[in-house]
Amino acid sequence: MPTQVSAERLEAITSSILQPTAANGVQGRTGVFEEVIAGLTAMITRHRPDGAEVLRFPPVMSRALLEKSGYLKSFPHLLGCVSSMTGTESKIRALIEGKASGQEWVDALAATDLVLTPAACYQVYPIIAARGDVPQTGVIVDVESYCFRREASSELGRMQAFRMREYVCIGAPETALAFRESWKAKAEQMANQLGVPFTLAPASDPFFGRAGKLMAVNQVEQALKFELLIPVNSEEAPTACMSFNYHQDHFGTTWGLRTDDGAVAHTACSAFGLDRLTIALFATHGLDLEAWPGHVREALSL
Ligand code: ATP
Ligand code: ZN
Repeated sequence: MPTQVSAERLEAITSSILQPTAANGVQGRTGVFEEVIAGLTAMITRHRPDGAEVLRFPPVMSRALLEKSGYLKSFPHLLGCVSSMTGTESKIRALIEGKASGQEWVDALAATDLVLTPAACYQVYPIIAARGDVPQTGVIVDVESYCFRREASSELGRMQAFRMREYVCIGAPETALAFRESWKAKAEQMANQLGVPFTLAPASDPFFGRAGKLMAVNQVEQALKFELLIPVNSEEAPTACMSFNYHQDHFGTTWGLRTDDGAVAHTACSAFGLDRLTIALFATHGLDLEAWPGHVREALSL
């Protein structure tokens, strides 16, 4: 296993398993990259809890629902909103033909009712809430979505568009917390099977602004978020490839989610960054899939 991830190695990864594009942090995925993603996807599916409901989403969601979920208070700097042209035909024509003095076509854009989904699990809570009470023993959803975040840096693994797979649990407080704890343990087993060096550490979300710093400190103090980190860019600053989150009653209160004893439901999720995990595998085992250790190839059905 490499102890040092060299700059050349990173460059090789970026240019041979990902296809850079004109947009920073937006890459095409090559065939070998997708082979590994497919293997990871199958591996995660093998660990799917019994009775989990499967939901797959396109990369956009309702703006109103995301606003209600509280995302804007915490992460306005990461949100992307879908805009489209508005106005009369003649106004739009003048703008796109560059004939509206001092105005660009983008000046005709107005926000639509859609945003780019920032995390897969946001879609799930209002859907489950609309169905009525959940059992105290919990409802589990297996969800995946392409996600978008307007990331400031484009270091390897920090993409603007990436795939997130999650198992989400909605139930009594002890159910949600036990779910989160059990996934921390399962994820360590999975990382061992994948042959990657890792640490599991308390973490915080990148909350916005000065008030956000306090929220981040609280999150760590209350042990609400853990990340499984794998060295990609450096040993000193390993990359978060999975996260295990306990939201307490945040989504339960927001969406009126209740357990069948009338209490506010608690929620938890375990999230797998499929692209980051794949990059971490290539960073660890090299670019030649054939040369990866046998047990890793087996775990990924390669
Ligand atoms: P980070 O701390 O690196 O900003 P995060 O804690 O915000 O990540 P989560 O919100 O927990 O990440 O998202 C779940 C998973 O999605 C992460 O563990 C990671 O694997 C993946 N992920 C998050 N942001 C990105 C990104 N910009 N590019 C690729 N994958 C990402
Ligand atoms: Zn989540």
